[in-house]
Amino acid sequence: MKKCINCGSVVTRNNEVKVFPEWLIKKTGDITRDLTLGVDLKAILEQELKPRVLTLPYLSFTTVECEKCTTTYFDDIIESVFKKVENSLELDIEEVNILLDWFDKLRISLWLGEYKMSSNPFNIKPSFGVKTRMGTKDRILVVYNLKEDKGLNILGANTPIFHNSQICFGLRVNDLFFISISTDNIVAKNVNGIVNNGLGIMKDDELIILKNDLKSKESDTPIEGLSLLETGKVIAQHIHPVRVDGKPLDFTKPVEMKDIKFEKETFVKRDGSFIGFSENDKYTLIDQTKIDWVENSMNLSNCVLDVQKDVYDFLYNQMFPNKDQADERMLKYFEYIKTLQETLREVTNKGVQ
Ligand SMILES: [Zn+2]
Repeated sequence: MKKCINCGSVVTRNNEVKVFPEWLIKKTGDITRDLTLGVDLKAILEQELKPRVLTLPYLSFTTVECEKCTTTYFDDIIESVFKKVENSLELDIEEVNILLDWFDKLRISLWLGEYKMSSNPFNIKPSFGVKTRMGTKDRILVVYNLKEDKGLNILGANTPIFHNSQICFGLRVNDLFFISISTDNIVAKNVNGIVNNGLGIMKDDELIILKNDLKSKESDTPIEGLSLLETGKVIAQHIHPVRVDGKPLDFTKPVEMKDIKFEKETFVKRDGSFIGFSENDKYTLIDQTKIDWVENSMNLSNCVLDVQKDVYDFLYNQMFPNKDQADERMLKYFEYIKTLQETLREVTNKGVQ
C-alpha cells in the first residue's frame, strides 16, 4: 500500500514524484548519474566494519503523491527563487518563505523516501507528510558559499538521528552549501512561559544562537572561521500556531488543522547579529567567505552530524525536562540513537568501501 507523501492518503494510481526536481539534477551534473545516500545503516546496526555506501540513480529516487496534492508547481516557483539565490540577488519575505518551505519539503521527502531505501532499520511508521509539516515548526537555514564547482551532495540524510527525527540535513548545490534545521521552539524566546535554552533563543528581542560554533568539534582540521556568527548567512523563523477564529489555542485539547494557522516571525543574520526581517526588507544569501568543497567535505559532513546531535539533545531536553519522571524506555532509546550516531561518525571518518 502506497501513501501520498503530502497528505498521507492511500494512492491507488502510481503517481511517482522525484525527491529532487529535474532542474536541480541537471544544474549540478549529468542527469543519469547516481546519488549517494551515505552509509548503509543496517550495516551499522549489525556492526559491520566496512559497510557499503547506498547509491541509486537520481531519477529513480522517488516518492508517490495523490492526484489531489500534486506539488510539481512548487518546483517551478522554487527554481526561480533558487536562481535569485545563486545570482546573489536579494530575496523578499515571500521568497524567503518559499525557500524555507522548499527545504521543509525536501527534508521530509528525503526522510520518507530514504528510510525505505535503507530497509527502514528503525521500523519507522510515519504519521505525517509534507503537507502537515511544511511551515509548521521553527526553522533555521544556514548558507555557506563554496568555491566554484559543480555537484549535488546530501549530508546527514541517512543517519540514525535523521531517521528518527528528520531535524537537520545538509545540501550542497554547486557552489552553495545549505544546512536546514527544524524543530519546535528552536527559535523561540518564550513559549507558554518557558524560556528555552536551546540552539537558538531570543534574548531582549534579539535572536542569539547559543551554539554559535557550527564547525566540527572533533575534527582534526577545523574549518577556519566556519562559525555561524562569523561566516555564512542565516535565516531563522519562529512559527507558532494560532486559532483562525482568534480564540486562545488550548494545547490540552485536540484541534483540527483547518482551525489553525501558523504565524511566523523571521530573523536574518546581519553583521554578526540577528535582527527582525519584515515586509519591506531584502536579504541576500551569498556570503563573501568561500570554502573549498573538496578540501572540506568531510568537515562539513561532521558539522552536520554535530548539529544533528545538538538539535537532538535540544529535542530530548524539551521532551523530558524532568528526567526522573521520564519514561525510562524512551530515555534509553534516545541514548541508543545517539550512540549509533557516534558509531556512524567514526565509521564514516575512517572511510568506507
Ligand atoms: Zn495527497
